[in-house]
Amino acid sequence: MAQVPHFINGARTVGVANATHPVYRPATGEITAEVILGGASDASAAIDAAEQAFPVWSQTNPQRRARVLAKWVELIDQHKDELAQTLSSEHGKTIADAYGDIQRGVEVVEFAVGAPQLLKGEFTSDASQGVDVHSLRQPLGVVVGITPFNFPAMIPLWKAGIALAAGNTFVLKPSERDPSVPVRLAELALEAGLPEGALNVVQGGKTVVDALIEDPRVQAVAFVGSTPIAQSIYAHATTLGKRAQCFGGAKNHLIIMPDADIDLAADALVGAAFGSAGERCMAISVAVPVGQDTADRLVAALQQRMEELSMGASDDPDADYSALVTAEAKTRVENYIQSGVDEGAELLVDGRGATVAGHENGFYVGATLFDRVTGDMRIYREEIFGPVLSVIRAETFEEAVRLPSEHEFGNGVSIFTRDGQAARDFATQVDVGMVGINVPIPVPIAYYSFGGWKASGFGDLNQYGTDGLKFYTKVKTVTTRWPSSTTSQLSFVMPEGS
Ligand code: NAD
Repeated sequence: MAQVPHFINGARTVGVANATHPVYRPATGEITAEVILGGASDASAAIDAAEQAFPVWSQTNPQRRARVLAKWVELIDQHKDELAQTLSSEHGKTIADAYGDIQRGVEVVEFAVGAPQLLKGEFTSDASQGVDVHSLRQPLGVVVGITPFNFPAMIPLWKAGIALAAGNTFVLKPSERDPSVPVRLAELALEAGLPEGALNVVQGGKTVVDALIEDPRVQAVAFVGSTPIAQSIYAHATTLGKRAQCFGGAKNHLIIMPDADIDLAADALVGAAFGSAGERCMAISVAVPVGQDTADRLVAALQQRMEELSMGASDDPDADYSALVTAEAKTRVENYIQSGVDEGAELLVDGRGATVAGHENGFYVGATLFDRVTGDMRIYREEIFGPVLSVIRAETFEEAVRLPSEHEFGNGVSIFTRDGQAARDFATQVDVGMVGINVPIPVPIAYYSFGGWKASGFGDLNQYGTDGLKFYTKVKTVTTRWPSSTTSQLSFVMPEGS
């Protein structure tokens, strides 16, 4: 059985702890490898390596660091076919979608290549007579990223790209469900010229995560995953005085106004709800048509498109979406569908029991559509993380704004309309972190930043963009005077700014 190891101090290693976890090919249900589950000593070995690499990497000038990142981008591009194949095999998303996973991560590393410009400090000449003030951004030291299964290339690249550009050294704890791509990315970074130990990967679960958070040498913790874990890691890390940003789950709504182009909205919805089998934190899981006529037209358009959707193996080029990540995920989604039925929602398309010929053991759930969902149902309140779309009918624009605003999660939201004023009011008023206008999945481009509100994000700064660089640096402010005489200038009062 192939083993997926750690990557510590520039080399693959099985480390000390010897537990393992199966790695599946969700499209077929078979086990393809086992991943090593590290222990506290493996976490400590990775931190040792990162600590040793820090003086060299942090003192490498920013432009040379950027050159290593540029080379990393080039190598990832050269290896993207191999990476996409592995990613698709372990995650279960289609190969075309796996390329997107890699590309959206690479875009953030490309942004990080420009970090020298953004790492410049400020300078004020003659802030007071003969006094200059300047500020500098310094790296934090050893920082940690804990990432989810659903974007095994993109999110590690979001974290490591920015942290390394700022001069930090990094320990990544990827998901145990699709652990191979992060190891390959770290190998390619080494090949690009990153010093050994500057980027390490420790495989494992809670034991490794706790050891990483608790190690006093770790300065910052960045997490992406489900809300309960995000919240507990945020509390754990900040109680220990560490900088933390922890991003959680989502329930993203798409509002369809009466004047919207229903075909456009329905096309957008099926892609955003069922692409990657709904396993995206920016997937749309709730459609909110405004007015009964809009709702009837939308539901008919959705049903028609859902008949034409193609579910297939992840390496089937004709598949629109493929399997869920594990058998447990499949069961969880099917249970949610049953709870929707039990609570009185109208199940229009039932994806339970859907199979792909020749892959009967794959973890498939077909695209599912509920109509007449209400705010008190579990399928509305909780994150399902599967190919299930709920239609909740609103009577007015105000009600449509209120639904996502009052929801526990606040990751993404979207509105489809031809009315610029309504769109503008919506974007201004809605209590959600990322908004799309006639755009179904509003993942901000690399030089903006990504972050949900409410239970979708804990911490002050967003991921990537300039916020990412702020998260991974600390500001030092230096006030300087070069006295021209040695005359004593004793003073016991607080100096004023002017
Ligand atoms: P998860 O919370 O199960 O796991 C995330 C990471 O935490 C993994 O590395 C996992 O090994 C680790 N982990 C799991 N249990 C832990 C514990 N008890 N203590 C410490 N670490 C633990 O999430 P997942 O299933 O891998 O990913 C899906 C979730 O991630 C969804 O909720 C999705 O919405 C969310 N997500 C959010 C964003 C965002 O930016 N807000 C992006 C992608 C995914």
